[in-house]
Amino acid sequence: MDAFSGVACSGDITTHRRTLSYRGKEFNTEALDTIGKTATMGKLELNDLTKVFGDGESNIIAVDGLNVTIENGDFLVLVGPSGCGKSTTLRCIAGLERTTSGEIRLDGRNITDAKPKDRDMAMVFQNYALYPHMTVRKNIGYGLKITTNLSDGEITERVESTAELLEISDLLDQKPKELSGGQQQRVALGRAIIREPEVFLMDEPLSNLDAKLRTQMRTEIQQLQQDMDITTIYVTHDQTEAMTMGDRIAILNNGQLQQIGTPLECYHQPDNQFVAGFIGSPSMNFLSTTREEGRLINDAFELKLSEETLSLLEGTPDQLTLGIRPEHIELTDGTQPDAIVTQVAVVEPMGEVTYAYIEIGDETYTLSVDGETRIGAGDDIAVVFPEEKIHLFDSRSGEAIKNSTLTDSIEPAQQL
Ligand code: ATP
Repeated sequence: MDAFSGVACSGDITTHRRTLSYRGKEFNTEALDTIGKTATMGKLELNDLTKVFGDGESNIIAVDGLNVTIENGDFLVLVGPSGCGKSTTLRCIAGLERTTSGEIRLDGRNITDAKPKDRDMAMVFQNYALYPHMTVRKNIGYGLKITTNLSDGEITERVESTAELLEISDLLDQKPKELSGGQQQRVALGRAIIREPEVFLMDEPLSNLDAKLRTQMRTEIQQLQQDMDITTIYVTHDQTEAMTMGDRIAILNNGQLQQIGTPLECYHQPDNQFVAGFIGSPSMNFLSTTREEGRLINDAFELKLSEETLSLLEGTPDQLTLGIRPEHIELTDGTQPDAIVTQVAVVEPMGEVTYAYIEIGDETYTLSVDGETRIGAGDDIAVVFPEEKIHLFDSRSGEAIKNSTLTDSIEPAQQL
């Protein structure tokens, strides 16, 4: 099946109802009126969604009992390492992959076995999946041509409005091979937007772009999604994209949901060591410790715990993994009882911050300091792990037992 036309727009096309402001411009919706539908719905539920590939002898469980609800207009990012089941989940939602068990509901309607064209979803692929022999104009309008009975004139009008929105009006008569990667990605977005579906599905849409364009397109997609208010599921393996784009992120590993929450919840309050290590760059540092008489003991240091933390640890195993983010390790003068004396192995000045790699025992850990702090390779330094900033995980199960506390008073940004 053709990958793109398989996910078609259906439903009534009626008069559009809003003003879009995009990249600092207000768009008169009379032009865009022709694109949309009223009262877009889009609550999507995945109930125990499971997908197994294989012939019964050597099976791969790509998606393992996934339970996720995405409210109308939400932007959910599915993130996780390569092979964790992100694309398979998206393809099941689109109907491009048959689910093994579980169900998919859109606005309460069971669409688990519905044909792709009956799902009112539009998908944007990593490789853009443009038709090479068609012009940009035809690529953008093709979906409407095959799934609606709009006249050629109406389709032309919609294509031109969409192209104007995405600033690709001057490319309408070119073919994909004449376009840059960023321009092709805009055409692919245009092809999805023009349908104004109930749900957008995006599978690593920016991964073929260079770093600068990626950042720019990231903002543009976010803004479009907010303005159009269409439920969106965005797949990426890039935790920065996940942190910056989504209202919520769902972190997968081995086909299983590890956590779903806002980016900051997942960053500060990870449910387990996998999430703690995956979200955040550079990654959280992990140190093996054993709890003994109110202290955490590691070959290279000891940390005395407060009564409050000890009460959280009641009934938990003695083998604990201590997690601390690079920005939470503090430099000290070495006189504090829990100070760890170490040497800086390597520094990476990034401008705003500097990353210093330090050795504790046989392992290397990352410390992040303000970019104006003078620190160099070979420096002897002392560091502490403030107790309110450490995370503790059950070393066997990886479950979080204690997370860092947000002690700083959080002030809202000054409003004008
Ligand atoms: P990536 O980020 O590398 O694209 P992903 O998280 O999207 O990875 P999937 O492509 O969903 O992962 O794959 C999940 C698992 O299912 C992998 O082990 C993969 O090899 C397997 N898989 C995916 N598609 C098929 C298929 N058609 N047949 C057999 N196994 C498959």
